[in-house]
Amino acid sequence: MAGLRVGLAGMEPGHYGCDEFRFMTSLYEKCDFHVHTRFSPCASPDMRVSSILETCAGRGIKYLGITDHVAAETDTRFLAEARRELASIDGPVRVFLGCEADVLGVGRHVVTEEMRETLDFVCVSANHFHTRSVAQPENGSPETLGRHFLDMFAYACSLGFADFIAHPLMVFPGTFDPRFLDLIEDDDVVPALKSAKRNNIAMEISPRALDREQLYFRMRFLFQCKEMGLKFAVGSDAHRLELVGQTRLIAPIVRELQLEDEDIWLPRGAD
Ligand SMILES: [Zn+2]
Ligand SMILES: [Zn+2]
Repeated sequence: MAGLRVGLAGMEPGHYGCDEFRFMTSLYEKCDFHVHTRFSPCASPDMRVSSILETCAGRGIKYLGITDHVAAETDTRFLAEARRELASIDGPVRVFLGCEADVLGVGRHVVTEEMRETLDFVCVSANHFHTRSVAQPENGSPETLGRHFLDMFAYACSLGFADFIAHPLMVFPGTFDPRFLDLIEDDDVVPALKSAKRNNIAMEISPRALDREQLYFRMRFLFQCKEMGLKFAVGSDAHRLELVGQTRLIAPIVRELQLEDEDIWLPRGAD
């Protein structure tokens, strides 16, 4: 694993965003299932669906997933507005309307029956700890952090309606010291991954997964997901146009995991 870490850390992710790689046609390069629009408060105001689609078309994206945040305080009526906006747009990119829904705590989430029925897919986040409405760990000890992250993740994997988990077990910058991740043993995540497998829930790989401080754990975790036979959802988690469709950035991870097109998640009706 040490060699792997060095190998991945030595690559410059930006290199893979270049247009010279356009001739490569692996499925993951044509997918971006995690994009925020102006309906997400944290997204740039120029993240309009029309601009996003134009950017995607220019970057060879064939499948786009819109995933605006649904947090505890979100008025979900924006989803109907987003659906109307999408209906008026046509073009080469297949667009799927999803959401990025918060797990608020073990046993608590924001996904309504209506969302399950009307959205094309539901992506769930169980680690938005920078959001105060999400249950915080009791203290900052590495053991407590590990337990809390795992419990939240396991709960997300138990949600039968979830299609994929966004940035699984990722520690967001400015929240906690990510070194606790290295205390998590492979066996600790197995029950949650079994549950994800039962529920057909895919795990996301986004450019966030390249975070160097968390890369050793990330690769260990992703290898386990692959061994479990889980699919991988690919998304940029773009909040700005520059990042839209930049899923080629994850090329070093895809190569290391030896992912094939059949490992890549697609929403219902995509093929
Ligand atoms: Zn997120
Ligand atoms: Zn996001």
